Amino acid sequence: MKNAIVTGGSSGIGLAVAERLRSQGYHVGTVDLTADADDPLSRTADVTDRAQVDSAFAAIREALGPITILVNAAGIDGFNKFTDIDFDEWRRVIDVNLNGVFHTIQAALPDMLDAQWGRIVNISSSSAHSGQPYMAHYVSAKSAVNGLTKSLALELGPRGITVNAVPPGFVDTPMLRNAEGRKRLGGTVDDHIQRTPVRRVGRPDDIAAACAFLISEDAGYITGQILGVNGGRNT
Ligand code: NAD
Repeated sequence: MKNAIVTGGSSGIGLAVAERLRSQGYHVGTVDLTADADDPLSRTADVTDRAQVDSAFAAIREALGPITILVNAAGIDGFNKFTDIDFDEWRRVIDVNLNGVFHTIQAALPDMLDAQWGRIVNISSSSAHSGQPYMAHYVSAKSAVNGLTKSLALELGPRGITVNAVPPGFVDTPMLRNAEGRKRLGGTVDDHIQRTPVRRVGRPDDIAAACAFLISEDAGYITGQILGVNGGRNT
């Protein structure tokens, strides 16, 4: 039996990944800023805080046994003119989207190294493909996550661990609708649908399906890849 942790598992993409993996028989713990108090496998932690991450992972490991699958979906967006981004804002966006991934991978790796088997999937962003105005901090963090993914794939491949990234395009989650509501999308979601070759917005389960594949045994020869799930917006 393979045990997984999904960060950002209380909402949007992370929630869909957790539900999909459970439906396929995996045992799944989630880590998020807001956890489900009634679910012992749902733990509260800020991924930027190593002590909180370690304690949440330890509690899930205690309940499930060794954790050999990690999906990093926790994230925050950021929209601001570069000249208006102060260092606190810059640091917070980098901290959650990049340093959080550092902490959770380090917290999960010992079990994978012991098992000589592991799967890590990092949710980056299609914005890293060609950049995005007013999102310099976010795009920097997500680009670094892609780089981290490639480097770790080379380092951990010989130990039986694959590391891949899934950069979503526009996916219908609270993050996207919130950005639309604040007029941060450069148009509405419907406008973006018209610019998307498959003519629809992404669904959280589109991303979950890609993650489930990358986690499967069938994907054991796939590592260090950036698998865009974006309706054809980036090719
Ligand atoms: P969402 O806001 O619905 O979910 C993100 C989750 O991460 C939330 O539950 C939130 O509480 C959690 N989170 C935020 N900061 C955290 C922290 N410090 N510690 C622990 N948990 C934290 O957003 P989503 O759209 O589901 O986003 C999931 C991931 O997908 C993010 O990394 C996001 O950057 C990425 N992404 C989303 C889209 C999109 O269109 N929705 C596009 C590209 C990339």
